[in-house]
Amino acid sequence: MLIAVDGPLASGKGTIARHLSQWYHLPYLDTGLLYRACALGVLRKNGDPEDEETALKSARTVDQKALDDPELRSARIGAAASKVAAIPAVRQALMDYQQNFARIPGGAVLDGRDIGTVICPQADIKLWISAPADERAQRRFQELRARGENISYDEVLNQLKERDTRDAGRKEAPMLRAADAHLLNTGGLSIDAAFEAARRIVDATKADLS
Ligand code: C5P
Repeated sequence: MLIAVDGPLASGKGTIARHLSQWYHLPYLDTGLLYRACALGVLRKNGDPEDEETALKSARTVDQKALDDPELRSARIGAAASKVAAIPAVRQALMDYQQNFARIPGGAVLDGRDIGTVICPQADIKLWISAPADERAQRRFQELRARGENISYDEVLNQLKERDTRDAGRKEAPMLRAADAHLLNTGGLSIDAAFEAARRIVDATKADLS
């Protein structure tokens, strides 16, 4: 069973995808980490994340080991990741890794922005996770503060809007709900309630498939 989970920043897609992977015993790939690892490589060399040559060189070095770096989760890397992700050659370079993962026998769970539309249009189940922007910003704010980042709520909200606009507006593989994706709005839901709602969708779709 291949499950594609897409949605904007802090919509809850990562948490839901991780919980689904544990529940159904499927391997899980957070594809945002690939773009983050690419961005981190660029910034470590004091490069410009919008420069195609530098970003592409970094994308080609991304491997499993690079995805474990705790620095990947910072707001600075998230912002730069959205810039490298707008470069078509970078997306192309990171595509094989994601599609090979999706081919693991027995299935997998992948989350990102274009999994249901571009990376795995053949996925058995697609989820589009959303939540109101102010609630997403509040979640990300709490998360970043818990990590020790010195950032204000307003800065987080501004970065989130900027990132949403760039991700949805880019030419190549924009952040987009697949036509056949199930919509799940996590606004006002606890993590448990959001996971339960996702699980119900997966179980119902699985039953239809069999
Ligand atoms: O999900 P996360 O915040 O870690 O993603 C970081 C950035 O990577 C996103 O803002 C987006 O620009 C990019 N991304 C993407 N396609 C994906 C996953 C992430 O463009 N499948």
